[in-house]
Amino acid sequence: MPDIAFSEVTREDPRYGSLVARSRNTRFVGTPSRVLVPRHAEGARQAVAQAVRRGERLAVRGGGHGLEGLVDDPGVTTVIDVSALDDVAYDPRRGAFAVGAGALMGDVYRSMYLKWGLALPAGTCPSVGLGGYVQGGGFGALCRRHGLVVDHLEAVEVVVADEGAGARTVVAGRDPADPHHDLWWAHTGAGGGNFGVVTRFWFRTDDAAGRRPEDLLPRPPATVLFASATWDWDDLTERDLLRLVANHGVWHAKEQADDSAYESLYSALYLNQRRVGRLVLNAQIDGGRPDARRLLEEYVEAVGEGVRASRTTSWQRLPWLQATARDVENRGGLTRSKSKGAYLRQPFDDGDGSLIHRYLADADYSGHTTIVLFSYGRAVNTVDPEATVVAQRDSLFKCYLGTYWADGREDATHVDRIRRLYRDLFARTGGVPASGDRTDGSYINYPDVDLRDPRWNSSGVPWHDLYFKSNYPRLQRVKARWDPQDVFRHALSVELPG
Ligand SMILES: Cc1cc2nc3c(=O)[nH]c(=O)nc-3n(C[C@H](O)[C@H](O)[C@H](O)COP(=O)(O)OP(=O)(O)OC[C@H]3O[C@@H](n4cnc5c(N)ncnc54)[C@H](O)[C@@H]3O)c2cc1C
Repeated sequence: MPDIAFSEVTREDPRYGSLVARSRNTRFVGTPSRVLVPRHAEGARQAVAQAVRRGERLAVRGGGHGLEGLVDDPGVTTVIDVSALDDVAYDPRRGAFAVGAGALMGDVYRSMYLKWGLALPAGTCPSVGLGGYVQGGGFGALCRRHGLVVDHLEAVEVVVADEGAGARTVVAGRDPADPHHDLWWAHTGAGGGNFGVVTRFWFRTDDAAGRRPEDLLPRPPATVLFASATWDWDDLTERDLLRLVANHGVWHAKEQADDSAYESLYSALYLNQRRVGRLVLNAQIDGGRPDARRLLEEYVEAVGEGVRASRTTSWQRLPWLQATARDVENRGGLTRSKSKGAYLRQPFDDGDGSLIHRYLADADYSGHTTIVLFSYGRAVNTVDPEATVVAQRDSLFKCYLGTYWADGREDATHVDRIRRLYRDLFARTGGVPASGDRTDGSYINYPDVDLRDPRWNSSGVPWHDLYFKSNYPRLQRVKARWDPQDVFRHALSVELPG
């Protein structure tokens, strides 16, 4: 039997409908002529080579959780879907864990924990794909203790376009002596779809000693203690919301500087639209600490201090693996969305809080808007801003802003509303969170095409500086070396220099 390197799925194939509708955001469904599904890394090379020789416009799909329509752009004629490349194995030759770029977060947590008792410091949604997540510089529940996922990236295998053969496979490593080191660096936060098709990542903590697999990545806590505090919108006042935001901000600002017992705390404050019914604080901590319950109680009390709206707090203790399988971002039938992001060096102030309250309290608005403040910093902020592409290494919070709805006929209304909210919230810096005392740009894994639109970004700071700051020119040099024909491009991809 000849080896079938990749499946070619055209419109007549029953799989076509499933593959073009893989975006979690149902606002985006692509119309490519074909989807190529490689069965292995060499299959990916052959698929790219064929598409490049035919001069096709390519896009790559990993887990399908990208927030913009970058993969489903109507101009794309061939999608390479890496879903089948999902192996997780220890690679003794490299002394690192090899993970297929099509693997989903939940599968990686499961394999690493059951086989080696380890965890990649990755994200909190089990169905996110490693393909996009890692390349964007992913953060998650272990980041304050262990840093970002890219702080543990040892090497990356990439199929790049090649003028002669159509495509070739390159392995690029963290070691500065590696001749392809620049390509490794470019995969530590530029976002996916820029340089080629990633087929495999290798992970290993930089200062891990020895070659025993069990010592090469962080060990997660055996159990995780969760607290979920909710404040009802029914009796929530503007003063309450300001108080919550201020308490939450003060707590984090103070804790960053301390030698704190809260290193394993991870928390997300959800400022939700009135229609959702409640504001939510989801917090978690290493459940193995004897003082875990007290610490988490004190944290919830500190955030809720002086807030008069009724509060309910629920508690849950889960073993590690079960803790990684919760899908807290599921919004039921509201599958259409528009997302934005911001790094916050300072907490939102009362002026910001009032504006947020005005938008969220609007009972006439039918969508679900949410502004989420994720705990950040600590280990993340110990890394040099140039060591990886993620230049934002002194923020207190990663902020997600999004709105969700169900009906496609309402797209323009909802997109416009979140655009206005964002523009108003960051009005002091041209409608975007430009780098300064309070904000430090945005996160490429919360991609937002509005940042390149002068109607929504009047800051004078180009979109790429908001994402990559002074690391952008180096990214452009990598682009010129590895993808000089700009084969891999989308609305927010790294542009060729000059
Ligand atoms: C519900 C939800 C929860 C999330 N939680 C977190 C979180 O906890 N932490 C966090 O940091 N982020 C989080 N994110 C953001 C997430 O990291 C990004 O959306 C990420 O890009 C998704 O990757 P994907 O492979 O699933 O998506 P895709 O849509 O498949 O890909 C996203 C981008 O990466 C490119 N890409 C994917 N695979 C490859 C590959 N193999 N080679 C080259 N390019 C590729 C695509 O072309 C596209 O441009 C979350 C998103 C969602 C929707």
